[in-house]
Amino acid sequence: MINRRNFITAAAIGTSALALNACHRAEEKTQSTSANINKAKKVTLKLATSWPAHFPIMGTGVDTFAKRCAQLSGGTLEIKVFAKNILVPAMQVFDATSAAQIDAFHSGVYYWKGKNPSFSIFGGMPLGLTSEEMITWLKFGGGYELWRELYGKFNLYPLIGGTTGPQMGGWFKKEIKSLDDLKGLKMRIPGLGGEVMKKLGVNPILLPAGEIYTALERGTIDATEWVGPALDSMMGFAKAADYYYTGWHEPGSILEITFNKTRWEKLSEEHRAIISAAAEEMTGTMLQEFRYKNAKALQELPSNVQIKTFPKEMMEAAKTALHDVLADESKKSADFKRVLESYQSFATLNKPWDDISTKNFLKIRS
Ligand code: CA
Repeated sequence: MINRRNFITAAAIGTSALALNACHRAEEKTQSTSANINKAKKVTLKLATSWPAHFPIMGTGVDTFAKRCAQLSGGTLEIKVFAKNILVPAMQVFDATSAAQIDAFHSGVYYWKGKNPSFSIFGGMPLGLTSEEMITWLKFGGGYELWRELYGKFNLYPLIGGTTGPQMGGWFKKEIKSLDDLKGLKMRIPGLGGEVMKKLGVNPILLPAGEIYTALERGTIDATEWVGPALDSMMGFAKAADYYYTGWHEPGSILEITFNKTRWEKLSEEHRAIISAAAEEMTGTMLQEFRYKNAKALQELPSNVQIKTFPKEMMEAAKTALHDVLADESKKSADFKRVLESYQSFATLNKPWDDISTKNFLKIRS
């Protein structure tokens, strides 16, 4: 009797389990076609970039980001990417998104220091944090909160939209043997790095990407920085200058993918999650792509190119000059002072661990 009863009970449980499984499968089937997102409600966003169409690594990075948003949303989220100057000029994407003429932009944060000097810090700092450290500060050290608060005043919502990894110090027509060699030198170098160079006697010049090579080749400028071997090779700088210096002024520049805040808040939770995930993916992939392509391009530099490191006295002077630039900016802008304090407090926390982990290990490995 007991055995039979157990058998019946087991059979009953089995049947209901089967029924439950069938139910679950049916539910899964409906979910896999709708994925919680109403297909009738397709959202299209216009995103403008500061790069030429499909510009290597940065431009192709945002192309892939848009593709991933479409895939992950089952086609319900379309992000139309517009290269620079198609919808808005490269340097007006911030204003156009703020005014809701477009929904989003992909650019470099330091371009907007005229809006608020503190924005240059979110883009990275000379002699400062590397890409991985910058991302850590933004995500865990309070950087994102400040960035979003200050961008909020322009009705903007920023996300990290990639990073370059360490950049090179630039191409020079003449070797830099001492601080004196910098006096009166005309160099294309933007941002805080340019301000530091100015204090060292350099005449920093801003030039659109398309004009840099000719200016260097004709001697209108004596030097230029750009990014690293992969992108610099494409610019042909090796044909116009022999000395290629190692980097200090952009150790981990951050790019941004920024949305009009009102538009962002109106998106569904799923679409916001998809965009955030695709932006994280873009950031990781861009850093890896830069590393791989720079490593490869370094091996393929023409034989006239000599890799040099700036003299120690110049780097010491750059540290002092940076200190002065930061002190000046902090006096002029309370926001700059506040963002700098957050940045420096993370840098202080990070240093002892970085020294005994990464720095120490790289020394052992070399
Ligand atoms: Ca650069």
